[in-house]
Amino acid sequence: MGYDIVTMGPLLCEIMRKELDKPLDRPADFTGPYPSGDTAIMLNAAARLGARCAMIGVVGDDGFGRCVTDRLKENGVDCSMIRVHPEAATGTAFVCYYSDGSRNFLFHVHHAAPGMLEPEDVKPEKLAGSKWLHVSGFTMSVNQASAEAIYKMVETASPESKVCFDPNIRPEALSEEEIRKLCMPVIRRADIIFPSKSEAAMLTGCATDEEGCRSWAADGKIVVLKNGDQGCRIYSGTEAFDVPGFSVEEVDPTGAGDTFCGAFLTGLTEGMSLEDCGRFANAAGAMSVRKQGPMEGAPSRAELEAFLQEQTNT
Ligand code: ATP
Ligand code: MG
Repeated sequence: MGYDIVTMGPLLCEIMRKELDKPLDRPADFTGPYPSGDTAIMLNAAARLGARCAMIGVVGDDGFGRCVTDRLKENGVDCSMIRVHPEAATGTAFVCYYSDGSRNFLFHVHHAAPGMLEPEDVKPEKLAGSKWLHVSGFTMSVNQASAEAIYKMVETASPESKVCFDPNIRPEALSEEEIRKLCMPVIRRADIIFPSKSEAAMLTGCATDEEGCRSWAADGKIVVLKNGDQGCRIYSGTEAFDVPGFSVEEVDPTGAGDTFCGAFLTGLTEGMSLEDCGRFANAAGAMSVRKQGPMEGAPSRAELEAFLQEQTNT
């Protein structure tokens, strides 16, 4: 039967500054742990909206590992492919926010449990028949074994499985050329791509995001460009259209893109039109930024439907 969505990547706990403008190189108060990790945020959002989901990843045998795994389980994610490493600690992300909206991350990923992911963690027989296999560039950037695990997942995908790619790669980590080389095998197989601002231009080598997105669409991919509070722009074949965002009070923007992606894929598995998927995902993304913590604002199906109803009425 297979899952609706399967993804693989770092399972993290996020610990953030309580106040703005407190850099990470000085003592000040933190709050957390909040369950995190881009792929986990995406999957948690999809599961809350009703998709049948499974996660592949590695956590430590510690409180933070249970914090993130328990959250996924509570929301119905199949966690049987999450491996508990006996020695490595669960990954963490420390974050501080500045008044200009920028943020600074300090990850414990490469030498922690997420860095222990291996191609053997991918069991093709368990993924057979799944509707969507979701790949994040962040997972591939962790180390060579993680990249190979992703390539294995994509190469062994059964023909009925579609591949979704969210670039989500920080240019600080690797050069643009390295990023392009790393992502190419996944982009080639991808059926849908979810770039954030500047990623489509960077990955295609085109002068603008618009050109980059159009070139992917010309190759037969659906492209969904995330535009923050403006919503999103969808490209399919030679068509492109904007789906406007919703106005909300932003408390914590981290994870909006991943929540958006989880909602969009859920809409696709239910046969919604691209425009309806865009509206559904814009609502989920907007709702997610209203709360502190990357997974905390992800709406349940009933909450999202009530939000959309309210927006129609006003
Ligand atoms: P991240 O990588 O931080 O998760 P991103 O750059 O991938 O984010 P964004 O464009 O910031 O993605 O946000 C994804 C989607 O969430 C947007 O397309 C929009 O639908 C919604 N969204 C994000 N921020 C806001 C906001 N302030 N108000 C309303 N909707 C928002
Ligand atoms: Mg993103």
